Amino acid sequence: MAIERTLSIIKPDAVAKNVIGKIYSRFETNGLKIIASKMVWLSAQEAGEFYAVHKERPFYKDLVAFMTSGPVMIQALEGEDAIAKNRDLMGATDPKKAEAGTIRADFATSIDANAVHGSDGPDTAKVEIGFFFPGMNVYSGR
Ligand code: ADP
Ligand code: MG
Repeated sequence: MAIERTLSIIKPDAVAKNVIGKIYSRFETNGLKIIASKMVWLSAQEAGEFYAVHKERPFYKDLVAFMTSGPVMIQALEGEDAIAKNRDLMGATDPKKAEAGTIRADFATSIDANAVHGSDGPDTAKVEIGFFFPGMNVYSGR
């Protein structure tokens, strides 16, 4: 295992539910450190560009509409095996299939409003962190 960084987004549904702190607490108690964070109301252009890999998928338009429906909380997380660990904490994309105790099982309502985003691999993590946080805005502090 190695120290990694990953990008996490608390989506508009979870921000509206007032559970940013509860989700941050899960990161912190599981060895993931918040090394950058900001609240943003994404434009359609930003959300569309961020999710460009899904452009051809049938849910792309709804995904962009949802991600621009309210503010999101965006953070870079750092820790041992951070990418897989964050995905474990998140649970399955469809909250109905997410394991008990995961963020999506506890806070998400549907596959659209599924509370959180997390990078799915080292390459996407690097691109996604760079997309939202220029280098000088990341504070590892180790
Ligand atoms: P994840 O967020 O778990 O990495 P994906 O990268 O496959 O999932 O999809 C990105 C986002 O698009 C999901 O979090 C979800 O909000 C939405 N999405 C994925 N699949 C569907 C689907 N079949 N119907 C509606 N929305 C979907
Ligand atoms: Mg994904």
